Amino acid sequence: MFQLPMLPRVLKQLFNRPATNPFPAVHLPKTMTGFLHQVATGKAKMHPPVEVPEGFRGKIGYHSEGCTYCGMCAKVCPARAIDVSRENKCMTVYAGHCIQCAQCTEVCPKGNLFMTKEFLTATTDRYAQDMVLE
Ligand code: SF4
Ligand code: SF4
Repeated sequence: MFQLPMLPRVLKQLFNRPATNPFPAVHLPKTMTGFLHQVATGKAKMHPPVEVPEGFRGKIGYHSEGCTYCGMCAKVCPARAIDVSRENKCMTVYAGHCIQCAQCTEVCPKGNLFMTKEFLTATTDRYAQDMVLE
């Protein structure tokens, strides 16, 4: 007898919603820069992203309290995204250079470095204020 084992699945797929999440807009805007400007001025709304999973490696985060400026993080950073000065007791993380490998978060004995869930980090200025952490 003639059989179509795939038929139930194909029919089911016809009525399923797409698995992809249209982000940041449901319909393709004329220009993404224009759309993001509209979002910033409240004239348009961003379609929400899906929840990122536990352990997601987003933008690097840094807080300075308790940092000993030991330089371990800078030593393991393959992207040379971290500058540490023990003499001046200061440290800078360039998030625009970071490749989100998380190695610095693993070696920091004080837990000053961490991966956030933030993933909208595309920028035309790698040294913009929100991309340089001190
Ligand atoms: S490894 Fe941690 S404590 Fe040491 S300099 Fe880096 S952030 Fe500071
Ligand atoms: S996550 Fe990786 S690339 Fe980013 S600052 Fe840390 S060590 Fe460097």
